[in-house]
Amino acid sequence: MNEQHLSTLEQNQLKSSEAIIEKTLGAFAKCGIELARIKDNRLYREKYGTFEEYVKVRWGFERNYAYRLIEAAEVKRDIEKVYPNGIQITNERQARALAVVPKESRARVYKQAVKTGDTTAAGIQKAAAQIVIRDAAPKPSKNDAVLVDETGYPIPNTVALEYWERSDEVKQVLDLINKAKSAVGDLLDTKDRLWHEAHIQSAHIDLKNAFRSMATAMPYAVCGYCQGQTTKTCTFCGGKGLVSKHAWNLIPEEIRDIRAKTMTKKVVPMEAKA
Ligand SMILES: [Zn+2]
Repeated sequence: MNEQHLSTLEQNQLKSSEAIIEKTLGAFAKCGIELARIKDNRLYREKYGTFEEYVKVRWGFERNYAYRLIEAAEVKRDIEKVYPNGIQITNERQARALAVVPKESRARVYKQAVKTGDTTAAGIQKAAAQIVIRDAAPKPSKNDAVLVDETGYPIPNTVALEYWERSDEVKQVLDLINKAKSAVGDLLDTKDRLWHEAHIQSAHIDLKNAFRSMATAMPYAVCGYCQGQTTKTCTFCGGKGLVSKHAWNLIPEEIRDIRAKTMTKKVVPMEAKA
């Protein structure tokens, strides 16, 4: 018998499994809608002090998860308003990819994803990058000097700019750690009994790690997902609108390339002008 071939028993199993999946698809949205109803009308109030407490005790959800479900349901509803038929938002990951897109652009992003034939979370992410980047591309005017990030992309005048201008605060902390690191480093080969009990080598390694860890706070580029625009819902930059060099390199090359293409116009960095 052909290995590919399904027996009657297997065919029935597949059918019943798929029937269950069909029913369950989109269940995240139903959960989200009902959670929102309970939250908005404070239907938990008889037994629980807060919505957070309710979802935790009653459902074992972390607060963030409950909010993600609610948000995902809203995204699904927004898209279905524009596309009543043929909707393929069946999982939370797709909804989350759309959640970082500004509300008014969601339908267009989804449309673009449909056009390219990829409505998976990754496809939506790519479509979002194309559309949001195009919308967000700051138009450099010939008189204004525009502050650009380390990739040369203009920093939008949103919270992203505020955080960018606070880079010095990160630098100050890094300088302090660096000073401590060199002070300890100078003692690495010491024979001075003053330091007899100190674990100098491991302290030195700890300080190196501390530097690396704190350095990720240093802004490197405007966030590749929200472009510094939709920072409240962007899970990638956490609402900062900016990301570190490390995080920037985690963004798929395709998305980075799309953005690079919007930067064909020459922008004069502020420092260079001064
Ligand atoms: Zn972001």
